[in-house]
Order: sequence, then C-alpha cells, then structure tokens
Amino acid sequence: MDSATSEPRRIDGPLPCVKCLYDLAGLMSDQKCPECGTEIARTLESLEPLAVMSGTELKLLRRSLLLIALPMIAGTVWIAAGQTLLVVLWLNWGYMSTAQVLSILLPATIVGSAFTIASFIGWRMLAKCLRPRGVLSSTAQRRLSALASTFVALYMMFGAVHCFRTVQGVPSGSLAIGQGAVVVLTLLVWLLRTYTGFSPIRDLGHQCHSPRLRKTISVLRVTAVPCVAVVLAYFLYDEAIGPNATRLRSLEVVSMVAFLCLFGCVLALGTTALLVRRRLSPFAAAAAQREFAKSLSAPATQDTLAI
Ligand SMILES: [Zn+2]
Repeated sequence: MDSATSEPRRIDGPLPCVKCLYDLAGLMSDQKCPECGTEIARTLESLEPLAVMSGTELKLLRRSLLLIALPMIAGTVWIAAGQTLLVVLWLNWGYMSTAQVLSILLPATIVGSAFTIASFIGWRMLAKCLRPRGVLSSTAQRRLSALASTFVALYMMFGAVHCFRTVQGVPSGSLAIGQGAVVVLTLLVWLLRTYTGFSPIRDLGHQCHSPRLRKTISVLRVTAVPCVAVVLAYFLYDEAIGPNATRLRSLEVVSMVAFLCLFGCVLALGTTALLVRRRLSPFAAAAAQREFAKSLSAPATQDTLAI
C-alpha cells in the first residue's frame, strides 16, 4: 500500500476525481486532475476506507444498507397500500364489525412497525461501521436516529388510540390535533435523518467508482427538500382553515404532486442504497481473498520456523 502512494502508477480503470468527478483514467497517480487541479493522490486516498475494511466490516456495511433500503422501498409501497385500504374500510365502515376492522388494521400496524425497527437497526449499523473512519458525524446522526424512533413510536401510539376510538365511535377532538402535530414532527425528523444519513451513502457510491450513483443521490436529496416544504405548507394550511372551509383546488393539486414526488424520491433513494450495496460486493470479495491469503500464510511461516 505504501508503494502505491510513493511510486507513480497509471490509473487503469475509470476513477472519478474526488472533487469534480472528472474521469482520471489514463493519468499517472502523481499528477493533478486536469479539470480542477486536485492531486490524484487525494482521490486515491479517498478510496482507501473500503479497500482496508475487513470482510466482517464490509458484511456489516452491506447489511446496514439493506436494512435502510428495504423499509424505504417497502414502507412507501405499504403507505400507498394503507391509504387505499383506509378508503376501502371507510366505504365499508357500516357493513363491517369492530372485530373485522381490527383484524385488518392490527396486522397492518405490526408490519409497519417491523419496517421502522429494521430501519432503526440499519441506521445504527451504518453509524457503527463508519464511525471509526470518521466518515460520519455519528453523534448527530445517532441523536437524530433516536429522536426519529421516538416520534415514530409516538405516532404509532396515537394511531392505535385513534383507531380504537374511531372503532368505538368516540369523536377524536383534541387527540386529532395532537396526532397531527406528531405526524408533522415525525415526518420532519425522519426526513432529516434520511437526508443527513445519505451523505455517507453518497460518498460510498463515490468510493466504489460510481459517480452516477453519487450524482443521483445528490439530485434526489435536493429534489426532496421543496417537496417536503410544499407538503408541510399544505398540511398547515389545511389545519388552519378547518374541515368545513372551501379549499383551494390548485393548492391541493400542487401538494398532491409534491407528495407523489417525495414518495418517488424516497423510493429512488432506497433503490440507490441497494445499488451502492451491490457495488460493495467486489470489495467484500477482495477482503475475503486477502483474509484467506493471510490465513494460508500464517501457518506456513510457523512450519518454516519448525523446520
Ligand atoms: Zn477534479
């Protein structure tokens, strides 16, 4: 590894510059990026974290990406299915017994919680993998993660109480306002955690020679911000004007589009995390080979010593 940095060598494969993503293929390792002037050595250094990770660490990293990505993809589909289910339930409210309604809602809530728990474990695992390498400001991420989980738990508790009260025919009243506030805070904290959490995932995309993945993650993160703003603005407007007031049709359409756009961003971000995960497999294979070679060489030296 030392010889790689001291002895200039030709960059064979595609290697995006750490600063401007210019392809450095064909240049020498002691040269500078022709586009932005950053030393190529700096790009090579940035690749190191993945190259020196052990097989176990890479396994953990890949598992964390899976646990982060799947709830984002499945959770989005689940919410869409849940909204459809609620409409169906609402239409059939009169014809269904309390037990029937609960038999549908309770399993749905349990599966929903499973996604949340998987995501929580995934973000923690990612922080644990990257903390020793200083890639992630882990304290902030851990606090956000804990906060997000608290709010999701609160949200689910409110949802459960709301469900029971609706089924029993008790009007929600002030509970609905509290639930609304919890929904907004949950959404905000969760989005903030996802937003900050995707910084290291974006960098991982760069480290495994995927400038396109890195760019996609950046674009998706930027697109999600105005969508969240519109959705929140509409939610506050909706709460402010009350249930019987006439609504602005155009505003409703804009918020709906923003909401769908946000859903799309979350789905796409989850997919990019899976793609980054797939890009890590050659590093995992290399680590396994290194460790295998080491395990072979260790007893061999012992034998030579014995002889
Ligand atoms: Zn450059």
